Amino acid sequence: MIHVQNYINGTFRNSINNNCINNLNPATGDLIATIPKSDLNDIDLAVNAAKKAFPLWSNLTINERANWLKKIANELEKRFDEVAKLESKDTGKPITLAKNVDATRSVSNFRFFANLIEELENPEFGMDDAMNTIIRKPAGIAGLITPWNLPLYLLSWKVAPALVMGNCVIAKPSELTPLTANLLAEVISDIGLPKGVFNIIHGYGNECGQSLVEHPDINLISFTGGTQTGKIVAKTAAPMFKKLSLELGGKNATIILEDADFISNIDKIARSAFLNQGQVCLCGSRILVHESIYTPFMENFVKHVSSMRIGDPLDENTALGSLISLEHREKVESYIELAIEEGGKILLGGKRPELGEKFSRGAFLEPTIIEGLKFNSRTSTEEIFGPVVTIHRFKQVEDAIKIANCTKYGLAASIWTKDTELGESIAKRLDTGMVWINCWLHRDLRVPFGGVKSSGVGREGGFYSLEFFTELQNICTFYDL
Ligand code: NDP
Repeated sequence: MIHVQNYINGTFRNSINNNCINNLNPATGDLIATIPKSDLNDIDLAVNAAKKAFPLWSNLTINERANWLKKIANELEKRFDEVAKLESKDTGKPITLAKNVDATRSVSNFRFFANLIEELENPEFGMDDAMNTIIRKPAGIAGLITPWNLPLYLLSWKVAPALVMGNCVIAKPSELTPLTANLLAEVISDIGLPKGVFNIIHGYGNECGQSLVEHPDINLISFTGGTQTGKIVAKTAAPMFKKLSLELGGKNATIILEDADFISNIDKIARSAFLNQGQVCLCGSRILVHESIYTPFMENFVKHVSSMRIGDPLDENTALGSLISLEHREKVESYIELAIEEGGKILLGGKRPELGEKFSRGAFLEPTIIEGLKFNSRTSTEEIFGPVVTIHRFKQVEDAIKIANCTKYGLAASIWTKDTELGESIAKRLDTGMVWINCWLHRDLRVPFGGVKSSGVGREGGFYSLEFFTELQNICTFYDL
């Protein structure tokens, strides 16, 4: 049982009101931690600490700050197994995923941004009589708000560029998954990062998260989460002219063309649908299959998915763990019921698996495959964020593009074909921020990450992140006196 505290001004402390929130392991229902139920008063404390720390931190050289990132990465790496275990217990995700993605990439996020600054240039534009020099200034105090599906990975994705560009940070992790954020605070405390530079406030989104967004001294908000919450964040932050990055939901299409080598790639296609129990914003939750290969594709896909082992998240052989909470499972199940009402046929799953006494209070749900739905039905167009995929046939490439573009979301897509030229031409016509051809979630940290339409505003990743956490200033010096 862990008693998580806020981390403010280099000190771990309870919320001022001393109230707590229980944190459960979603696979077992066990109470594993309590976290502070913070409010505006705690945010105020953190903002004051960050403001005090800002002059010193922002005046370090960028290389000095990059060295701090490298220290964080090294210390985090030493606690690799602990990160993976905490993440698996807190989210219910399989330990192999927590190791390969969460623990690994959190370390690499810090290293990546520490190294990327070597390539930053300060552009200059000479005129006949003057020189324009563009310099980068930190935006100030950054509010970072992150969801529960990839807790430390997404937090480190924001903390690293924010810090290296000279901002001080106040982070608000999801109250469902506070444990690895707390570990990061321990790491930062252990290496002695100047106090006030990095602060974490735990609590509910609509109370503590909202206070963070509303705070007049927070200059920038980087938010990853649901589209509905993103709307509230935007509505609050925009009139205050805060810099804003919104990484929101998705309903991504996986397009299987007539010539796709779907047999060799069936594991990758299944992974794209069900990784982290379908709780990745990039998951391909709508699979569009060319009618000429529909039957063999479905035979292979259903067979493969039914062989995915569901169970104890801490078992190395588990492919699917539990969903994040019982409430979230109910939401996902309500979509399965809706699918039936809308005329869908459940080909696989749809039920809670029997996993014995230990996991009887867990939020498990079988991977679910549904066919026969209209492509514009609610089940096929709304984000479910669970282990549920809908399958749709298409005849012409034009139809696939139309179906892929018919949701309000525009985050990502994948296209499977031997004709990569055709794949690229289709990709260009998809209304999404990212498209993978013959792969999925193949990530290069330098490329822009983000979506269009209701999937968000702005891009993070590589220089795009560095830019976001910076204010550019042009100094034009006239020298023809
Ligand atoms: P939510 O939108 O519910 O929450 C995200 C974060 O915002 C949490 O920390 C939450 O706190 C906080 N929050 C809630 N209300 C407010 C508010 N009024 N002001 C400020 N902060 C608030 O998302 P989930 O945690 O449920 O995450 C799942 C969603 O995230 C999915 O829609 C998924 O697609 C999206 N996502 C998008 C990604 C992308 O890069 N595009 C990547 C990963 C996920 P609390 O938990 O306490 O409510």
